Amino acid sequence: MSKLIMVFDQGTTSSRAVLFNRAGEVVAIAQKELNLIYPQPGWVEQDPSEIWATQMGVAGEVIQRGDAKPADILGIGITNQRETTILWDRNTGKPFMNAINWQCRRSANICEELKELGWEDRIKEKTGLLPDAYFSATKIAWAFRQNPKLKQKAEKGDLCFGTVDSWLMWNLTKGKKHITDETNASRTMLYNIHKRQWDKDLLHLFDLPESILPEVVPSLGVMAETDAGYFGGQALPIAGVAGDQQAALFGQVCFEQGEAKNTYGTGCFMLMNTGEHPVNSNKGLLSTIAWSDDTSVNYALEGSIFNAGTVVQWMRDELKMISNAAESELLAQSVSDTNGVYFVPAFTGLGAPLWDMYARGMIIGLTRDTKTAHIVRAGLEAIAYQTKDVLELMEEEAGIRLKSLRTDGGASSNDFLMQFQADVLNRKVLRSTIQETTALGAAYMAGIALGFWKNKEEIKKLWKHDKEFNPMLKEKERDKLIRGWNKAVKRSLRWEIEE
Ligand code: ADP
Repeated sequence: MSKLIMVFDQGTTSSRAVLFNRAGEVVAIAQKELNLIYPQPGWVEQDPSEIWATQMGVAGEVIQRGDAKPADILGIGITNQRETTILWDRNTGKPFMNAINWQCRRSANICEELKELGWEDRIKEKTGLLPDAYFSATKIAWAFRQNPKLKQKAEKGDLCFGTVDSWLMWNLTKGKKHITDETNASRTMLYNIHKRQWDKDLLHLFDLPESILPEVVPSLGVMAETDAGYFGGQALPIAGVAGDQQAALFGQVCFEQGEAKNTYGTGCFMLMNTGEHPVNSNKGLLSTIAWSDDTSVNYALEGSIFNAGTVVQWMRDELKMISNAAESELLAQSVSDTNGVYFVPAFTGLGAPLWDMYARGMIIGLTRDTKTAHIVRAGLEAIAYQTKDVLELMEEEAGIRLKSLRTDGGASSNDFLMQFQADVLNRKVLRSTIQETTALGAAYMAGIALGFWKNKEEIKKLWKHDKEFNPMLKEKERDKLIRGWNKAVKRSLRWEIEE
């Protein structure tokens, strides 16, 4: 009897494959690093063939490591880096150029044009996104402007566009399926998240023929079968697909409206389930599709913090205050407070809720008795304060008050950070047992679609947190700390603008 779900977790820096059993536990993982190409400052590319080859490589490896046979695998879930744009030839399956990575800023000027043309609000209304070079639409438009031949190919119907999920499914089906799941579609800036279809006005605006677009399918449901040649003559169903952050929300079982997760990595990604309706943000949060199946759709609000783990990296690599990231926890705990020090990590400006590109980083409140430990502690606390600011903004915009926050990602292993997070939020923080929440989410999606698990209720029972952090700070103390943070942040604003 089939007893495993295989997940392809195609990320920015690596391709991974993970096998999950019926208890939702990791049976085996395989991982291969992936190259990023930087042809010019601000430009980031990847080789689509390498994405595909590494992904298939780890798929084979994980089956071996798990001592499994293809026949043990019930089906496949896919989760992927979002927005990264691939253009390939419909006839040969060959990419026309390198993948334009989500981080790539090459189409920033097209976004400026859109704002000047007054499209900002309409784009937000239709797609839930802000005109930014992250999203796929301006990346495709850039490629077409650069190379008129692509446009001709597209007009003849010979060109396929896809995000990474779409590229993998095209290859897994040997070109039989040009499809994408709805969460990935909602990151292209071409998908109307209310009407739930490609938006004709936006296609017209970017001058893109509809024929290049993949068919949009629900995130849960059998959407394709792999070519039998890949897995020992066995055609495996692909049954759950979602972009990485949406998959993590699902993996953290945030199934109810108002449940939220925060992933603490290089930056932080926070998503809150807003239920069956999208919330229109007025303060710079994104509205996006969290998942969908044949009969229903769920939306989420998304906010990101640019600098989280980078604070720890900077203290390690530049200030040499710590020799590794984990040491920050011990140092922070070696003092009872920051001795009045605040660290505003606005290395690249500030995002929500203040949105100031000209803000710059700052450490303030130094006195002669400031110790390294105070500064390190202030650095970790800053990650928690920023999370609190984004979360409160989400609550305000969604009109929902959160009971607890679920956490994951590399920096969530820091107990001091998690406890301080609970303290400043005055809410419970639940840290996931499984660090692979992204892959787990895709496994849950595929597993539900295939009847491996009955429904979300059953999955909720499987989900475990490894540690619960309860708020312990008195209200007065909390207020004082937060007042200090707010004061510090204000001082960092508009620093780059000359007087
Ligand atoms: P990403 O997926 O963005 O690469 P990860 O989830 O792997 O990030 O997390 C890595 C980040 O977490 C790094 O920036 C690192 O400095 C930070 N980090 C890792 N462990 C700790 C820790 N114990 N305390 C604080 N930060 C940590």
